[in-house]
Amino acid sequence: MVPDLKTFTVWFLTGSQGLYGEETLRQVAEQSQAVAAGLAGSPDIPVTVEWKPVLTDSAAIRRAMLEANADDSVIGVIAWMHTFSPAKMWIAGLDALQKPLLHLHTQANVDLPWGEIDFDFMNLNQAAHGDREFGYIESRLNVPRTTVVGHVSDPAVTGRVGVWTRAAAGRAATREMKVARFGDNMRYVAVTEGDKTEAELRLGVQVNTWGVNELVEAVAASTTQDVDALVDEYLSLYDVQPGLRPGAERHESLREGARIELGLRSFLEAGGFHAFTDSFEDLGDLKQLPGLAVQRLMADGYGFGAEGDWKTAVLVRTAAVMGAGLPGGASLMEDYTYHLEPGHELILGAHMLEVSPTLTTAKPSLEIHPLGIGGKDDPVRLVFTADPGPAVVVALSDMRDRFRLVANVVENVDLPQPMPKLPVGRAIWKPQPDFRTSATAWLTAGAAHHTVMSTQVGVDVFRDFAKMSGIELLVIDDATTIDAFEQTVRWNAAYYRLAQSI
Ligand code: MN
Repeated sequence: MVPDLKTFTVWFLTGSQGLYGEETLRQVAEQSQAVAAGLAGSPDIPVTVEWKPVLTDSAAIRRAMLEANADDSVIGVIAWMHTFSPAKMWIAGLDALQKPLLHLHTQANVDLPWGEIDFDFMNLNQAAHGDREFGYIESRLNVPRTTVVGHVSDPAVTGRVGVWTRAAAGRAATREMKVARFGDNMRYVAVTEGDKTEAELRLGVQVNTWGVNELVEAVAASTTQDVDALVDEYLSLYDVQPGLRPGAERHESLREGARIELGLRSFLEAGGFHAFTDSFEDLGDLKQLPGLAVQRLMADGYGFGAEGDWKTAVLVRTAAVMGAGLPGGASLMEDYTYHLEPGHELILGAHMLEVSPTLTTAKPSLEIHPLGIGGKDDPVRLVFTADPGPAVVVALSDMRDRFRLVANVVENVDLPQPMPKLPVGRAIWKPQPDFRTSATAWLTAGAAHHTVMSTQVGVDVFRDFAKMSGIELLVIDDATTIDAFEQTVRWNAAYYRLAQSI
């Protein structure tokens, strides 16, 4: 369900001009192919990098950009001015480009050939000023881009390009994303509302609603054989509570959980959906609030938001695509309750049921417990604790005139003490820079209580994603101070209003 990122391509474009003659252009082509190969061969870069013939005039540049726009497998463009490429030649192309852009400021050689350098070398290796000319036109045209500086043999360079390619994969994912909502968002809740029409324009996501009883029909259509097979899979993958096992008194509840998973999966596959929401207030004839099913679908890369929260469903799916192939996962998360011991504050994150088991490498326990709300049968769910390690939590809110992402860099920690009576998947984390600053900044930003937690990608990927999507991002990390954060919130309010056309 999560795409293989190698199926995504970024084009490597090299700028030059006709002035230098064929021999120089031949060397430019050869050396730029070596740079592109350095990127393509790097384990830091999960996508396919494709070298394109050197560009030397305005018409060819514009044509290359139009082709990049038209090719769905192309998720972005890397540009490098090996020699001097007069930047008026790039105006039409950059104006036409609709895909993310990375400006790679590099050169073929690491060392200056001190004893050998002559003016032929100087003619060939001019990125130091050729890229400055390009930077001017990018800035003049206000082209959103990521700039990466350094030689391609430097892991810091390939690592940074890799971050951008993951963000570009996220951008491609939102451009094609279809979200199915079963029911509306939870009654009276504000932050899970949002402008779905604007979201389709800004992010590309299609968010539409289906009656929950269409899902109920899909659940009813599951066959006994399919339920048997899925139950066998549960028994092999999880520590299944004795009461849920075949022949035990609650086994029928596990079979119902399997039916819900089969129904949900078939509905999502038939409709080509990438993400979905449900609502405990609108379950129709479903017998349980989907728990296990949602957890396993998230683990397969589907986005999910509870209580009709389609914005978080979009984030969970986007994070899963951006993190494809990396250890860890992406999950719906909710700041639930605190440990407020001074100096050792911790946040306990969880949800009613729906936390993705990709957050743990341990074997989850498959259990059944009552659920106080929703008025349905007891739901089955996976119980586990997220692995310790770095993570990021990211929320998306609708600020009327724009969408705002807020990201907090956090550290998941081991449970300080066992929690034998808490029957849900959960994570315990320490937020950067400290609990008080983190929560103050989060509240100042009006960020949502639902988030995606990613243990696969860091805040740098979300930063590039926000930039290429043209949406606001506020970051809470070790550098955050409340004074500066409040200033940023104020400045952003003015900036985003001015930056939008009337
Ligand atoms: Mn919730």
